Parts: sequence; structure tokens; C-alpha cells
Amino acid sequence: MKSGTITVLGSGTSMGVPTIGCDCEVCRSADPRDRRLRPSVMLEWGGHRILIDSGPDFREQAIREGIDRLDAVLFTHGHADHILGLDDLRPLTFPRVTGGARVPLYAAADTADILRSVFKYIFDDNYKYGGIARVALNEIDGPFELLDLRIVPVPVLHGEATIFGYRIGRFAYLTDFSEIPAESMAMLDGVSVVFLDALRHEPHPTHSTLDNSLQVAARIGAAQTFFTHMSHNVPHEATSQTLPPGVMLAYDGLRIEADLES
Ligand SMILES: [Zn+2]
Ligand SMILES: [Zn+2]
Repeated sequence: MKSGTITVLGSGTSMGVPTIGCDCEVCRSADPRDRRLRPSVMLEWGGHRILIDSGPDFREQAIREGIDRLDAVLFTHGHADHILGLDDLRPLTFPRVTGGARVPLYAAADTADILRSVFKYIFDDNYKYGGIARVALNEIDGPFELLDLRIVPVPVLHGEATIFGYRIGRFAYLTDFSEIPAESMAMLDGVSVVFLDALRHEPHPTHSTLDNSLQVAARIGAAQTFFTHMSHNVPHEATSQTLPPGVMLAYDGLRIEADLES
């Protein structure tokens, strides 16, 4: 048992909740659990701290959670809502914080290509002006060791794209999927805490619905399942009352203990 803490930095879909210009009930809700920043989680264990994704709300999330150091970032895929906070990692990558090392990033080859193209200046060895994020991009295509953890990328279908979820010990984070292939379901055997995409009730070409994720949750059978990447079609309190035992909606700031030992 290697106990770790998962902190939900953001539980919202790509536009966030409230959504700009919307006056629906959820966007006007006074319930803080209906305020959803872009999706990301932080893992902490034994003095270490890593992120899964760094989205456009990373700065606000880091200030809220008092993040003053960072050991690594794992990326699920290259969409804007998961990567646009890379520039805001800057203060956590400066030598006085890291002791000189670059902060390692881990991503599949296609996601790494997107990072290098969107953030061309960060990966430009001849960049003249300084002050950029000091990161080291590592391409991954299977399980690897990070610090004292075993990180297992879990391929999932996000529409036609194959992207990564991650399994770490008995914790798994699967954001942005429309389908989990059978081989990947097998990789989730024995997880006790799992996060699943549950965008909304209406079908969507690249995301899972609440109904579909309830079925996935039942098949995985984790003690605790948390839905994330939710839109403004999912009111926290009213939806929570419809969920079976063990299935919950995540919310920003939520903390859960999980066993990260493989
Ligand atoms: Zn997304
Ligand atoms: Zn709305």
C-alpha cells in the first residue's frame, strides 16, 4: 500500500462551467460544486506531486491549491482544454524551485507533436529571451516508472482518436473517452478509485454520457467511481441523487485517498 491523495483541480468540460454567455440554471447555480474549471487532477504521495494534464485554468487551480512545486506532468492528449496551461507551469520550472532540473512531461508521440507545435517557443533551443517553462518532453507508448510509481497509460477512444487514460496502482483516470476497448478494460482490473468522462446525457461523438459511464462503472466495479469532464447539463445536487452507491460526481477541490502501489 502506497497511499496517495488525488485532488480534483477541475471537473468541467472544455468550455468550463459556468459557460460564457449562458444563463442556464447550472451556470447561475450558487452551489460551488457547479463551478467547474477545465479538467485536471493532481496526485501527491510521499512528498511528490504530479499533474495529469495542465489546462487553461492551471494558474487559478495552482493558486487555489497552493501548488509550489511539481515533479512531472502526464498528458492524456493534445486538446486545448488539457494542454493550454503549459505556459503557466513557468514559475514551477525555474531553477530556484527545481534545483536546476527541467520538469519532465510525459505524452504519447502525437500529443508531444501538438505540444511542440502549439508551444514552439518553449521547445526552441535557440529561444533568446528566457523566462520560458523549463520542461523536458518524454514520449511514451507504454508503462513506465516515474519516481517510485509505475505509470500505465490506458488507451481509450476519444471519437476517432486514441488517447491515454492512466492507471497508477489502484487509481485510474479516464477523461475524454467515447469508448474503452476491451483490452483497456482488462487493464483496469482491480482498480478501487476510477474517474470517468461523463459529459452530459445527450450522446456526443467524442465523449461518454452519464448512462454509458454508469454501465462502464458497473463493469469496472471500483469501490469509488467519480464522474468528470461535465458540462452545464449536469447539475451537481440533482444528478447526485440519481446515482447508485459508489458512483459520485467529482467537483473542483475534491480530495480522495487512493492506493498508488502497483
Ligand atoms: Zn477534454
Ligand atoms: Zn449554462
